[in-house]
Amino acid sequence: MSWLDRFARPKVRGLFRKDDIPQDLWEKCPNCEQMIFHRELENNQRVCPHCDHHLRLDARKRLTYLFDDGEFQTIELPEVAADPLRFRDRKRYQDRLRDARSETNQDAVIVAHGTLGGHSAVVAAFDFAFLGGSMGVAVGEALLAGARLAVLQDSAFIVVPASGGARMQEGTLSLMQMVRTTVAVDELKEAHLPYIVVLTNPTTGGVTASFAMLGDIAIAEPGAVIGFAGVRVIEDTIREKLPEGFQRSEHLLEHGMIDMVVRRHDLRATLSKLISLLRNTAPTAEVVELARPQADET
Ligand SMILES: [Zn+2]
Repeated sequence: MSWLDRFARPKVRGLFRKDDIPQDLWEKCPNCEQMIFHRELENNQRVCPHCDHHLRLDARKRLTYLFDDGEFQTIELPEVAADPLRFRDRKRYQDRLRDARSETNQDAVIVAHGTLGGHSAVVAAFDFAFLGGSMGVAVGEALLAGARLAVLQDSAFIVVPASGGARMQEGTLSLMQMVRTTVAVDELKEAHLPYIVVLTNPTTGGVTASFAMLGDIAIAEPGAVIGFAGVRVIEDTIREKLPEGFQRSEHLLEHGMIDMVVRRHDLRATLSKLISLLRNTAPTAEVVELARPQADET
């Protein structure tokens, strides 16, 4: 062992202790693989400045970007049975829940209210980091609570899904949430309130098959994967190669499945415009009475 190994290396190491270097200074874009300075990415609403790829966003940040001045009030969501089926795969579902909760301290959805472009609005935002944003009983409850709050406050309801679909650890109970969330949407429609969905990457499975496709207006972020079954499953079933960009927002827009593709930076302005259009039921111009034929002429 030379003096370099014995003496110089530990000294140099000592100068740069591991904890001095922040781990999250740089982030790699999953699309173009460029390294992006963490702060630059945050300042750009987590959209890659090189290729405009929309990176995943956690629920709280999503709410901050949507509400006016980033201010909102989250609501307390109903408690549900934590592990109704006592499910266990490689790990106990209870442990999975506990681990996921220790990071975010909630289930896969946060519901908040506040103003959006001056209009009162309730927003339910999904967190993909929480068990893949999967829809269990807690998510169903959250959406029902959100819809009911919107009715109570006479405001628009906006849902921003990011979900792999049903939560398999809750079996049939998870599938029942497809019905419950549809009921939630119906309650809004009965109250004549706008219900807008902002589909983000990814929105798949039972979520796509229920409330996510029932919006009065369906918006999607650019490049988001939106579909029911995955590409490989469909290709294996129909034994055919699917076209490039299949199940991406732009493809769905071209085929009439969604209404618009909106960049993250423009979401708030677009939503605000839509809410004011949907809520303003007054005629756009002065109503002119048409001359009616005289009774005796008929
Ligand atoms: Zn990129």
